[in-house]
Amino acid sequence: MLKGTAASPGYAIGKALVLRNEAIKIEKETVANVEEEKERFSSALKKSKEEIIKIREKALVNLGESKAAIFDAHLMILEDPELIKTIHQKIENNYNATFALKETADEFIAIFEGMDNEYMKERAADIRDVTDRILRNLTGQKATDLSLLDEEVIIVAHDLTPSETATMDKDKILGFITNIGGRTSHTAIMARTLEIPAVVGLNNATSVINDGDFIILDGETGKIDINPSQDQIEEYKRLKDAYEKERKDLEAMRGKASITKDGRQVELGGNIGTPEDINGLLRNDAEGVGLFRTEFLYMNRNTMPTEEEQFSAYKKVLEAMNPKPVVIRTLDIGGDKNLPYLKIDEEMNPFLGYRAIRLCLKENKIFKDQLRAMLRASIYGNLKIMFPMISNLKELLEAKKVLQEVMEELNQEGIRFSDDIEVGIMIEVPSAAIISDMLAKHVDFFSIGTNDLIQYTCAVDRMNEKIHDLYQPFHPAVLRLIQMVIENGHKEGIWVGMCGESAGDQRLIPIFLGMGLDEFSMSPISILPARKLISSLSYEEWKKHAENMLSLSTSEEIIEYVDRLKLNA
Ligand code: PEP
Ligand code: MG
Repeated sequence: MLKGTAASPGYAIGKALVLRNEAIKIEKETVANVEEEKERFSSALKKSKEEIIKIREKALVNLGESKAAIFDAHLMILEDPELIKTIHQKIENNYNATFALKETADEFIAIFEGMDNEYMKERAADIRDVTDRILRNLTGQKATDLSLLDEEVIIVAHDLTPSETATMDKDKILGFITNIGGRTSHTAIMARTLEIPAVVGLNNATSVINDGDFIILDGETGKIDINPSQDQIEEYKRLKDAYEKERKDLEAMRGKASITKDGRQVELGGNIGTPEDINGLLRNDAEGVGLFRTEFLYMNRNTMPTEEEQFSAYKKVLEAMNPKPVVIRTLDIGGDKNLPYLKIDEEMNPFLGYRAIRLCLKENKIFKDQLRAMLRASIYGNLKIMFPMISNLKELLEAKKVLQEVMEELNQEGIRFSDDIEVGIMIEVPSAAIISDMLAKHVDFFSIGTNDLIQYTCAVDRMNEKIHDLYQPFHPAVLRLIQMVIENGHKEGIWVGMCGESAGDQRLIPIFLGMGLDEFSMSPISILPARKLISSLSYEEWKKHAENMLSLSTSEEIIEYVDRLKLNA
């Protein structure tokens, strides 16, 4: 039995698929039979081509034409006569196909990377991708392709990249298990968005679990049973049935207001990453989108999304939710979310580095294109714009200035946009929380990003499972900051929401409710349970409890206080 962090609720029972995508080993060898080696290379090419065609079909269905087009570029590289000719020449000089391919690919990549033209530069990543696939087919060191699964499996991996989770075949994946990460790592957030049970931060899952092992994944407690007994399987099947029944019962909360016993109404929104996530919002009766993480539109591709592509993504979400509010956050790249084609220098501390608004204020075109797309889409619904990672007032004023410029440009071009767009910021850096009284004078709303606020307040990397115990959502310092932000926002008459993972936590919701939080935005799967919980609470009582809790000195004492109340309820 293994124990990790329960990251996405529910149970999965099934076969493990362990991802071990290690680097390919390439040796330089001399081959005697040139024709045979050429033949080996051709059949690896053919196999790679078949795979790419299949992935393209999948991508078209799951992700749409624009993302599927990446694979057209891959097919073109695969058939490039110049590339194939160079490799053949090397084989004719008695080199093995693997080495010939790798050396040729490296030469081509260097040429493309050295070009002035941005578009051509980006082709280097495509060449790398395609040659990696051919190399794996040549050496038999297969990378598991999550978009091409033929049976239902539980994925076991060191971690999953956002691009892996975006292209994978969701119908075939029963659950995720990863070595690293906590509740707020992107694999965990993605698992909840996809409503797939997950346990993360297991350290050694990929070495302890073997391919094909029968696994029970308990997304409620974080337990993993490997090759369990028949009795255990039966027990878990019962738990799984009970969980599914409970989810069904929650249907009764659909269409209801999120209101306490004594009449305080709040708004329960959903967090999304792509327009496809709208289904989850509608299924779970979200009252709006409290956070649209737009960086997912930029990931899993080789070029920047165009203004037009972004416009159509934002329009889709705004239209689907209209008249409910949709908070679209400007690009929050950096930290653990990387864009290979942006070529950001490697940093010692990416979470403290060149990311989010810091990057957008420097990369003016990226920022302006995105704001233009948002503004143009604003006439299709109720748009609110949010800036991430604000750490001082100057940054906020600069970001607002760029927005103003974009508005003026659109006006000059005679392009319409809504004249009623709220502009807000994430409060996720302690410095912003501390000066929230001043920041509040310049915005229409705050949304507290607890995922980062906790990591920066406690100085604990949110991805590092070794220090997971120190990542404390109940830390008195974190709760005091949150309380301060809510109070400062209200003093200036603006609404205060929260879009970090704490907003969907059953033990924290009552505390934030008592502190006066106006809006909670969470993984859609948590919305109906949150509504049920809120409808059982008294705001006036929790106001007092929240006050009492702020005088406690440790996380443990605060958790104990909450749990005691729950027991007595
Ligand atoms: C947060 O930091 O709480 C947040 C919602 O943003 P992200 O998880 O995307 O960093
Ligand atoms: Mg954040």
